[in-house]
Amino acid sequence: MKRIAVLTSGGDAPGMNAAVRAVVRKGLYEGMEVYGINYGYAGLVAGDIRKMHRRDVGDLISRGGTFLYSARYPEFATEEGQLKGIEQLKKFGIEGLVVIGGDGSYRGALALTKHGYPTIGLPGTIDNDIAGTDFCIGFDTAINTVLDSLDKIRDTATSHVRTFIVEVMGRNAGDIALWAGVAGGAEQIIIPEKEFDMSEVAEEIRKGRERGKKHTIIVLAEGVMKGNEFADKLYEYGDFHQRVTVLGHVQRGGSPTARDRVLASKFGATAVDMLKDEKGGLCLGLVNNQIVANDIIETLGKKKHMPDVSLYQLNKEISY
Ligand code: ATP
Repeated sequence: MKRIAVLTSGGDAPGMNAAVRAVVRKGLYEGMEVYGINYGYAGLVAGDIRKMHRRDVGDLISRGGTFLYSARYPEFATEEGQLKGIEQLKKFGIEGLVVIGGDGSYRGALALTKHGYPTIGLPGTIDNDIAGTDFCIGFDTAINTVLDSLDKIRDTATSHVRTFIVEVMGRNAGDIALWAGVAGGAEQIIIPEKEFDMSEVAEEIRKGRERGKKHTIIVLAEGVMKGNEFADKLYEYGDFHQRVTVLGHVQRGGSPTARDRVLASKFGATAVDMLKDEKGGLCLGLVNNQIVANDIIETLGKKKHMPDVSLYQLNKEISY
């Protein structure tokens, strides 16, 4: 394969730029031509495609977001949208594609592979909710961003003997809450993957106070419920001077951590190796610290993402 392209799609994540950089540089290193597609599948269909040179990806490794921009483009789920995209790929003579995004983006990648265009998916989402990989690009940066906020909240929570409910992102997955919660020493972590009982939450806060605890931090995954709703429900069991902090989109931004940059670089370079070997219909993952190539159909179908729920029990045992 001599001519490949790369796009970013769905929600942006820190480290996407590092991944694009790796695809471009590795592709050029292998003697290929590499094209960048702006605005995900929307840009593909619109023909917003340009040839990339070494310098086009200079100074990008440290930047969050995605310089190729991202977009939601539901029309790509239709055969008509896909055929329009393929027309553009043909026009530019592009033989293979790297798609960086979440599982919606993988569905687009799968559709292109079925239409005969080898496509490789790279997991890029702060939610870390993609099957077949322990870690996604952007997750490590996001948990460090949350951790920074938790440390700050702890200072003020202690000063006023308050209970802070910190709502974090993650869609339907509890990964961000688990990792940031353990790292930040949160007293309680509430995630979609584990049932919880509000009366027990209240009881734990009370017991902590009796032991002389000055603050309580509860990290709540957005997939469970909104922070304010949680605070209202908790109030039915007592007034714990609860305050709600919704971290929101700050979790999406920032300069990627070293771990995210290295992961993105490895994924990007490996994707080029796959395309060089004419392979498509695959998505890359990191499993037990090894890069693996999974079948996209299997990943979207049978496999289900599961966070490391052992962190939940660990937190109960060490952060009370
Ligand atoms: P995140 O989880 O971070 O939001 P995502 O990749 O799952 O990322 P989506 O908005 O679900 O985000 O998908 C991104 C894009 O992928 C969509 O806007 C659309 O262009 C394309 N896409 C989604 N579903 C399909 C599908 N079934 N077939 C083809 N393309 C799809």
